[in-house]
Amino acid sequence: MKTEETVLEIDLTALERNIQYLKSRLKPTTWFLAVVKASSYGNEATQIAAYIEKKKLANYFAVAYTSEGIALRKRGISLPIIVLHPQSINFDDIIKYQLEPTLYSLRTAHLFLEYAEKHQLSDYPVHLKCNTGLNRLGFDFNQIDEVLSLLKNNGTVKVKTAYSHLAASEDMNEKVFTENQIQRFIAFQEKINQTFAHKVIYHQCNTSGILNYPEAQFDMVRSGIGMYGFANDAALQPYLTPIMSLKSVISQIHCLEIGDSLGYNRGYIADHITKTATIPVGHADGINRIYGKGKGFIFIHGKKAPILGNVCMDMIMVDITHIDCEEGDEVIVFDKEHTAETLAESAGTISYELMTSMAHRIKRLYIEG
Ligand SMILES: *Cc1c(COP(=O)(O)O)cnc(C)c1O
Repeated sequence: MKTEETVLEIDLTALERNIQYLKSRLKPTTWFLAVVKASSYGNEATQIAAYIEKKKLANYFAVAYTSEGIALRKRGISLPIIVLHPQSINFDDIIKYQLEPTLYSLRTAHLFLEYAEKHQLSDYPVHLKCNTGLNRLGFDFNQIDEVLSLLKNNGTVKVKTAYSHLAASEDMNEKVFTENQIQRFIAFQEKINQTFAHKVIYHQCNTSGILNYPEAQFDMVRSGIGMYGFANDAALQPYLTPIMSLKSVISQIHCLEIGDSLGYNRGYIADHITKTATIPVGHADGINRIYGKGKGFIFIHGKKAPILGNVCMDMIMVDITHIDCEEGDEVIVFDKEHTAETLAESAGTISYELMTSMAHRIKRLYIEG
């Protein structure tokens, strides 16, 4: 499809194939949780979650914040949704929208139990976050007895799952550290199993965990980046397809004489005759200023066009001195071939950050087949 303005093309068929590939790496009984936080990494969570639910590709969803879960419920998503990082001010909404909170600290556990008793909840589904080394959210091992004694025989809530998060599952230099995280999580599981009569579902792996630590898949895995097409591993990348492409057009072409400057703060000064193309995508769209001054690049008719000078709010100017192109021609900021990961790396960041930065104002086009 030829583009006539800036658009994000999102390939739902590739999403489905990516999930099928990730599942092919699992035991048939392992559940799959689709991480749709941060607008499904920029792809728009309601669209992505609706597709996943319609195609029956997942058993569970997870979002980071309560507001993200509310948006999914308002769009009619009915699968269970874990809120990974709720605050106590969110408890009313969590109950109202049938979201499932993570209890990650003694404080949140006490507050939620007080709330549950006050509102006479019964067997309300909750999830326990165990800290095995990321040191971000979760109970430490020396706190788990206290948490479990609060929860044991407490009919207001029911612990549906317990989980932990790996810090460096994509980095095989950290294999010893990761294996230690897995062993620590097993120790948490033993304590939890001793506390409850019902089966608690355990999960620890993110995408790279699925790919690199199949022995740690337990009962469920949580994938985000892999569904969206990145393996964090060059050898496995051919099995996944990036689902998001950012395409735009050449609005205008200029020819700079030697000594002419380009853009704000005269960020580029021509030391040779330079042909430039102005593209309607800027830092307000998610192409941060860090990509300016020759670091980042786009592709025009398959050729690389570096960003010249400073990135503006609504546009960039790129070097087309050696590219045969015209005003109105399509350009690729990133796609399946020239990936978001490559562009992100040019500025020292990661595909996750570039994708989640994509502004809401950019039109999303969903394609299938
Ligand atoms: C974001 C997140 C994930 C997804 O990680 P990917 O590397 O994108 O697969 C899984 N679990 C938790 C707790 C997360 O915060």
